[in-house]
Amino acid sequence: MKGRLAIWMLCVALILSACQGSVSEQTTGSETDSTAETEKGVETGGETGTGIYANDEVFELPGDLIRSNSTVVDDNKTQSIITSQESYQIGTYIKISIYADEQAPDKLFDEIFYTIDDYEKRISKNIETSEVDAINAAAGIEPVAVSDDLWALILQGLTYSELSDGKFDITIGPLVDLWGIGTDAARIPAQTEIDAAMAMIGYHDIELDAANHSVYLKREGMKLDLGAIAKGYIADAIKQVILNRGYAHAIINLGGNVLTVGTKPNSDYWSVGVRDPNGGQSDIVGILKLRDNSIVSSGIYERFFIENGVRYHHILNPYTGYPEQNHLVSISIVSEKSVDGDGLSTSLFVMGLDEAYAYAETRDDIEVLFITDENKIYYTDGLAEVFVPTNTLYEVVGAYTKSE
Ligand code: AMP
Ligand code: MG
Repeated sequence: MKGRLAIWMLCVALILSACQGSVSEQTTGSETDSTAETEKGVETGGETGTGIYANDEVFELPGDLIRSNSTVVDDNKTQSIITSQESYQIGTYIKISIYADEQAPDKLFDEIFYTIDDYEKRISKNIETSEVDAINAAAGIEPVAVSDDLWALILQGLTYSELSDGKFDITIGPLVDLWGIGTDAARIPAQTEIDAAMAMIGYHDIELDAANHSVYLKREGMKLDLGAIAKGYIADAIKQVILNRGYAHAIINLGGNVLTVGTKPNSDYWSVGVRDPNGGQSDIVGILKLRDNSIVSSGIYERFFIENGVRYHHILNPYTGYPEQNHLVSISIVSEKSVDGDGLSTSLFVMGLDEAYAYAETRDDIEVLFITDENKIYYTDGLAEVFVPTNTLYEVVGAYTKSE
């Protein structure tokens, strides 16, 4: 497994170096322009971007950061310069493309990659110096004061734990560690181990002190795991960096969490591919036409291992202790904020189609697309005009009715 990780890292490094000097069409859950029809909007040209950084503004990046140089494209269609850079961080492939009048400076990407690194170092439960690790290490012992960002993220996580009645649970850490899916230690645990890990889960046993921003896990052995919402939260933070620096048109892709900033400079929508859960990394089931939106997918294809013909994937059900097995293979959420899309994609996946669809219909601020193990695609009403199917292996049903 370690070897596999090394090969993967090498592949990423090769992809990054190959991308220098050429525009790579991105794969699923990411922007793709190849098959979308074009809807002409008002031609305004790229009017944004200053790229002004003070000389003494330096963003200290880790020495071993895997990262590309800028790819710069003079794009006739959007009448803008597209500057893109890629990196490998938070265990995932990242691509940022900025559309502006001029080439975006390296420092903008430095700041973005620095922001990602800074969050990862605070949020990852697997980094010993992280804030989350400090909370976990002090479980059953004492509260730990945390930064405003982490406080906000934990509060967000708790809203999803509450709305899903614990099907999404930010204290799922012991179970995630036990299964180790996506790591060298992945295995099917014994039932006694699963029972012991499940006994350590329970978001009700998080004690929060708003005055001190301190977090206390009441029982020793409890562990926070914010992996289901961290990428969305970080994507939102990157969008803020881009806007703060005066850029209004960009697309952010954190390993399939895609967040669009504004429209394209000519007012065109962004075309974001929805990954084919049964296909390879560049296969899609269709395209979503988005403006200033986030699209996040959760699915059984992301991290998994197969044993005796059974697929064990990384979305776990805290009530069964096992990877969630229902008829869903993937779920995609369109929302304004990426943290909401990320939290909901995992929550709704564990809820299953019936409950998740019913929940999605109660929210007019999100749209959801479901793919089932019978290759059927269902989506909430708002996607009827937004989703363009491209894959004949799938039957596009549209609205879901429970009897089906
Ligand atoms: P995502 O890819 O956004 O669906 O998030 C999956 C990640 O969230 C996993 O790798 C775990 O770290 C964590 N996770 C898995 N199952 C759950 C769950 N039921 N509730 C909260 N977090 C989970
Ligand atoms: Mg998620």
